[in-house]
Amino acid sequence: MTRLQPVRGTHDILPGEARRFRHITETFRRVAEGYGLAEIATPIFEFTEVFARSLGDTTDVVTKEMYTFTDRSGDSITLRPEYTAGIARAFISNGLTQDAPCKFFAWGPMFRHERPQKGRLRQFHQLDVEVLGVAEPQADIEVLALAHDLLTELGLADKVTLELNSLGDGPSRAAYRAALLDYLHAHRDGLSEDSLNRMDRNPLRVLDSKDEGDRRIVANAPILTDYLSSEAVDFFAAVREGLAALGIPFTVNPRLVRGLDYYTHTAFEFTTDALGAQGTVLAGGRYDGLIEQLGGPATPGIGWASGIERLAMLIDEPPAAPRPVAIVPLGAAAEARGLKIAHDLRRAGFIVDMGYRGNMGRRLKRADKIGARAAVIIGDDELARGIATVRDLDSGSQSEASLDGLAGALAAFRP
Ligand code: ATP
Ligand code: MG
Repeated sequence: MTRLQPVRGTHDILPGEARRFRHITETFRRVAEGYGLAEIATPIFEFTEVFARSLGDTTDVVTKEMYTFTDRSGDSITLRPEYTAGIARAFISNGLTQDAPCKFFAWGPMFRHERPQKGRLRQFHQLDVEVLGVAEPQADIEVLALAHDLLTELGLADKVTLELNSLGDGPSRAAYRAALLDYLHAHRDGLSEDSLNRMDRNPLRVLDSKDEGDRRIVANAPILTDYLSSEAVDFFAAVREGLAALGIPFTVNPRLVRGLDYYTHTAFEFTTDALGAQGTVLAGGRYDGLIEQLGGPATPGIGWASGIERLAMLIDEPPAAPRPVAIVPLGAAAEARGLKIAHDLRRAGFIVDMGYRGNMGRRLKRADKIGARAAVIIGDDELARGIATVRDLDSGSQSEASLDGLAGALAAFRP
């Protein structure tokens, strides 16, 4: 028998939630365009190596979460688990390096095979921002300001905290890596198997572990901030000063690391305590090595992604949709004429709903249910006189209007 429930971890976006989504994506579009970003879209699937090489093959996403399959041509394909790798690939393969700096925004579905729970799905949606080709901390400041503006416009400024850290540059990371590795080796008895497997290849990964035992050990581990090169220290100071100058509140969290390998310098998360365990609503950082790691020319980059489902759970009900006018024709002749009237009214800028069937009572009930602002009632008798009855569904008052002048008579009900 056909299984009629959606696949575990996926969900249907019914009209009520679709409206919340649209409020979020439209607000995002408006704010992003205000920062001079251009919209981009890349395919939902890519060759697996695009993700494996950019995210890093010790990361949770690559080792456990990707939807990977061999297609009919024998290629290994992966449904995108995030946007940055695809945009970086597009930047290289379209030769956009000539156009740098490039400032992009994008949004769409992402796929990760995770354990589904509130705020954690297998198909979810992200807003995404990427600025490519800018090494200056001004880009970090603006990308963070954009995130802050978006969350403010969505009414979430008071519900979130910006946590900020610096992961340093190459030399900082090398010095820190050695110190951290010493520490982890000294505490290897208490580490999870996952962490033991990863630590020699990528000890920073252990800092991001969600395992309780790992977390206890990590709590006393050396801190990256103490190993930053003087360039990295200056860079981080410039970012913090820039944010302060724009009045954007943040806290420095020296233990913040990000789950993917490609981050350098600035790393950040906007977190909330209103969503239980899934507290990160927006996260990102600088990834100066990524484009080169993928085979492109050395190009710095910075960006972030935000889960739309998590934002949708946090925002208030968005502004109500504009209300339609309902056509209520009674009798065959009026029904035929009703379609033409509806057509003309739509061309005149109205939102018009047709009920298609039922007597007057049933059609008016539907008009009420869909929140119609007014009804245009056309009976055979009225049709013969070339008029319709216009009923204001809020006040209940009604008046007659000539069929030729309906758009004018309905002017107050135009959305
Ligand atoms: P988490 O720590 O919650 O697993 P992450 O570090 O894996 O998050 P990113 O890869 O940085 O998340 O993705 C950016 C944002 O996308 C997250 O902050 C979150 O809002 C959202 N997100 C990530 N994974 C999921 C998921 N499985 N379901 C819903 N939203 C998600
Ligand atoms: Mg995750």
